[in-house]
Amino acid sequence: MKRLTLLGSTGSIGESTLDVVARHPGRFEVFALAARASHEKLAAQCERFAPRYAALADGGAAGRLREALRARGVATEVLGGPGALERVATEPAVDAVMAAIVGAAGLPATIAAARAGKDVLLANKEALVVSGALFLAALAEGGGALLPVDSEHSAVFQSLPRGFTCGRAGEAARHGVRRILLTASGGPFRATPVERLAAVTPDEACAHPNWVMGRKISVDSATMMNKGLEVIEAHWLFGAPREAIEIVVHPQSVIHSMVEYHDGSVLAQLGAPDMRTPIACALAWPERIEAGVAPVDFASLARLEFGRVDDARFPCVRLAYEALARGGTAPAILNAANEVAVERFLAGDLAFTGIAAVIENVLGRSTVQPLDGLEAAWRADREAREAAGREAARLGRRAG
Ligand code: NDP
Repeated sequence: MKRLTLLGSTGSIGESTLDVVARHPGRFEVFALAARASHEKLAAQCERFAPRYAALADGGAAGRLREALRARGVATEVLGGPGALERVATEPAVDAVMAAIVGAAGLPATIAAARAGKDVLLANKEALVVSGALFLAALAEGGGALLPVDSEHSAVFQSLPRGFTCGRAGEAARHGVRRILLTASGGPFRATPVERLAAVTPDEACAHPNWVMGRKISVDSATMMNKGLEVIEAHWLFGAPREAIEIVVHPQSVIHSMVEYHDGSVLAQLGAPDMRTPIACALAWPERIEAGVAPVDFASLARLEFGRVDDARFPCVRLAYEALARGGTAPAILNAANEVAVERFLAGDLAFTGIAAVIENVLGRSTVQPLDGLEAAWRADREAREAAGREAARLGRRAG
């Protein structure tokens, strides 16, 4: 029985994880569920999965959850407020932690899990982008495994030789890897006339052609910042230099990513665009378990297309490569500026094209510091959020 803590259980990845877990009652035990404030959804999850703990970052919402569970006769203990998520991520009984909080907010509990020696199943790419080498040091200290959940990184991992260890510098080169090829659908605006992009709405941006996801990552997919964050994530996960990580546009999202070796072989992982595949893969690795995912119908796949990233349409990709090249706190600045800009866009206060403009201006004006401790990452995050807020207010709904 593998005991699990799910950070972000009320989100898209959290719910898909519970769907896979429910298919294997004798295999996984849900030890703790955690989120920010969605107490009603969490109450329903507690009723169904009877975890030992439920944690909400919002103390008031935790109080409401406690009352609801008492009224329903559910014995789950409720924790709330700062520190609650770290506690359920590090409890001695926990074997693995699904890190599926959205944004840098997931970092404290995720890095605490790594330091405590838990196996970390990583969906929360922002946590690794912000903390980079610090995260890997915490993982090495704890001695647990790092398993990717992001579909592209899961595909890369599955295309690497058994024995490949995520989170070790130089690991890709040691295994004969020439290039890591991350596939990208190109999102909902791959073919939209560039001059129309300034006026697209949040709902249009969240209508991803192939994947159903939370709203923040949906906007990241529309700007392709998601792919930029994934490049940085791949650098740390697979110990590969940025020059060896490339993006291939593949609108059908059937090939989830590829690994090219020095002998010219390219190995790819294919499947339906359903996050339950990479989730099940990380939960049971190295075994394979049923995930409820429909098989690929190759006969009905008319064709698989490939192309290059259109840099003029998707400036966020270049900005992410630049942040990775600058190193230090630059990825934390990129991420924080992006989180603020996406939030403002979703609130209707910033034009879609303003997202990249905010990030570029904030990155351009920030002083990048060495990432010599988590405090440096948080300082950079805080300052970039303030700068991005000002920049977003200045640009408003004008085209960036
Ligand atoms: P959602 O927006 O659907 O869910 C986010 C989850 O995080 C919710 O449980 C939310 O709780 C919780 N949360 C948000 N802020 C905080 C906070 N401050 N403290 C504690 N919990 C918080 O996101 P997704 O499931 O789409 O994405 C989760 C992560 O997985 C992201 O990093 C994303 O990039 C990554 N990912 C997602 C994919 C997908 O298909 N959705 C694919 C690959 C990666 P509450 O409900 O209470 O607000």
